[in-house]
Amino acid sequence: MIKLGSIEAGGTKFICSVSDENLHVIAKTRFSTSSPDVMMPLIYQFFQEYQPRAIGIGCFGPIGIDPYSENYGKILATPKKGWDNYPFLEHIKKHINVPVFWTTDVNAAAYGEFWLGAGQGLHNIIYWTVGTGIGAGAIYNGQVLTGLSHSEMGHILVTRSQYDHFEGNCLYHYDCLESLASGPAIERRAGEKAEKLPKNSNQWDLEAYYLAQACVDVAMILSPEKIIFGGGVSNQEQLFPKIRYEYKKMIGGYLEPSPLEKFIVHAQLGNDAGTMGCLLLAKKLIEN
Ligand code: ADP
Ligand code: ZN
Repeated sequence: MIKLGSIEAGGTKFICSVSDENLHVIAKTRFSTSSPDVMMPLIYQFFQEYQPRAIGIGCFGPIGIDPYSENYGKILATPKKGWDNYPFLEHIKKHINVPVFWTTDVNAAAYGEFWLGAGQGLHNIIYWTVGTGIGAGAIYNGQVLTGLSHSEMGHILVTRSQYDHFEGNCLYHYDCLESLASGPAIERRAGEKAEKLPKNSNQWDLEAYYLAQACVDVAMILSPEKIIFGGGVSNQEQLFPKIRYEYKKMIGGYLEPSPLEKFIVHAQLGNDAGTMGCLLLAKKLIEN
């Protein structure tokens, strides 16, 4: 049996999985994130047992993805202890000598949603994750869209609501999307965990106002066929009609895709998007 491997390296947990060639997961394990000297041996040990033919890695960012740069395969500037400038890919390749697809966690999840979730049958999608942070991946013509680096759409600047005087939750920007609309931003502004807020709280109107701006911006720049929302905060279903309403207002009748219910949608794979994306990326390596 040909086996495929997946590593989702997240800020709170690492999830390692192995599937058969049809992406049926045959083993999966979670490790709480700590320093590389603890995490790396756990990863090597897991894959030693299953011997996958290729591995897809979706890693928290920022990471070096330009193969011509000396930063390639490294985790770049991060406050996470021990991971700053860490050559993740090099270590994996040294210990597990198989082809590896290396991308960000959100790009991997976007890839999963594109092929197996809410993006099935389309050509171009944007996938947002709204959780502890905010990030987005663009899949264009079936490929992960990257440039000089991976995109950092979570840090696009948004227009603040005149009623919002929250100091923000991004270390770098006062008025970026992540600063104003991530799960921890909602929590700090409201004084209550996002999942505990009532469905009719005006925090959700504010949240929709910011997420709608994100949709308008990506629609104008990249013209995706669909905008998909995943991540913990997106579990608040009441957000979706509000985002569409704000989107319609903001876009002012210009290039409005219809119906909006099919344009701005909830993700379908839930927590499996990242794993599925990594496995698909690993499979692609073998097929190529
Ligand atoms: P992570 O981004 O860490 O991988 P999540 O996507 O679950 O994990 O994001 C966690 C953030 O999302 C937290 O700020 C949490 O308060 C918020 N969150 C999680 N579940 C929900 C929910 N059902 N409704 C609203 N907010 C949620
Ligand atoms: Zn920011």
